[in-house]
Amino acid sequence: MKDIRYLDDISSLVLTDEKCVGCGLCIEVCPHGVFEMQHNKARIVDFNACMECGACVNNCPSGALSVSPGVG
Ligand code: SF4
Ligand code: SF4
Repeated sequence: MKDIRYLDDISSLVLTDEKCVGCGLCIEVCPHGVFEMQHNKARIVDFNACMECGACVNNCPSGALSVSPGVG
């Protein structure tokens, strides 16, 4: 069986760089390894792994993340 992946390029996840304060919480809570810390900012490194669970959005203290659950 092939790896189960969400459809490519369809997640509604958006990271607004300027708002990120580099707390790292999104990296801690994301169950799919979507983020990495680079230069004290979160970066999306595996966009297609996002299944729009909303955990990162709910934990981001600065409103840098948004996702519309159920779009993908
Ligand atoms: S919505 Fe869920 S899967 Fe997607 S990046 Fe945020 S924590 Fe990870
Ligand atoms: S939770 Fe928000 S502020 Fe913290 S690293 Fe992630 S995007 Fe940046």
